[in-house]
Amino acid sequence: MKTADIKPLLQNMENLLEGNHIIVTFLGSGDNFGSGGRDQSCIHIASAGGSMLLDCGATVLVSMRKLSFDPGDIDAILISHLHGDHFGGLPFFILDAQLITRRTRPLLIAGPPGLGKRVQEAMEVFYPGSWEAKRNFDIQFMEIEPDIPSVIASFTVMPAIAVHGSGAPSYSCRIGCGEKVLGYSGDSEWCRGLLQTADGTDLFICEAYYFEKVMKNHLSYKTLSDHLDEIKSRKIILTHMGQDMLDRLDEVELETAYDGMQIVV
Ligand SMILES: [Zn+2]
Repeated sequence: MKTADIKPLLQNMENLLEGNHIIVTFLGSGDNFGSGGRDQSCIHIASAGGSMLLDCGATVLVSMRKLSFDPGDIDAILISHLHGDHFGGLPFFILDAQLITRRTRPLLIAGPPGLGKRVQEAMEVFYPGSWEAKRNFDIQFMEIEPDIPSVIASFTVMPAIAVHGSGAPSYSCRIGCGEKVLGYSGDSEWCRGLLQTADGTDLFICEAYYFEKVMKNHLSYKTLSDHLDEIKSRKIILTHMGQDMLDRLDEVELETAYDGMQIVV
């Protein structure tokens, strides 16, 4: 854990944000199985206008508290797809907002069609009665459609269809703020949507579950490398790495995320 790296940026965050930067913090850079002791998918993005989580894996609160991020500062949460390691932290986040952080302002949660129903079901399975419990804040679900831009907190988001079975559409997303644009693959096999999402971005955050194995639902570093000249992004960072990938990090020529990594875009 390189928590020491994070402190100078956090202390300097206000100055950086005034300069119209986006600060990206990898709260969780791991897979669904805790490979390498890494937390599940969760990326914090902050602009001068506010902050949003990109995915909300089940470990979200552990990640935030390890790195001194306040859940109460989050304006919105964008979910790429409805798998537990990407949205399974929402029941905990919502309960924390109600009981511990004592949120009063609305929480916006955006993601694929079916999001609202799946979150309510997850809450009822984990903590019966928790969805219906009285809260001092509103939860607003925004179900977003592929290729249609939406404004989510201070960001514009354009989803593209990913190839990843999750019982609902799975997305990769372009996320813009001012002049800056990020791309996030979510989970996906190689597909055209990833190129759309990465096109012209300042940073493309891309999953690389395997090193070279070609499997359904996910990307390997090798597949990504084979398509590198098609990806028009100024910078690529790999995340969502499984054990197979982590075992061979010294052979990887692209930058790889770690929990606590911060990038100023
Ligand atoms: Zn997934």
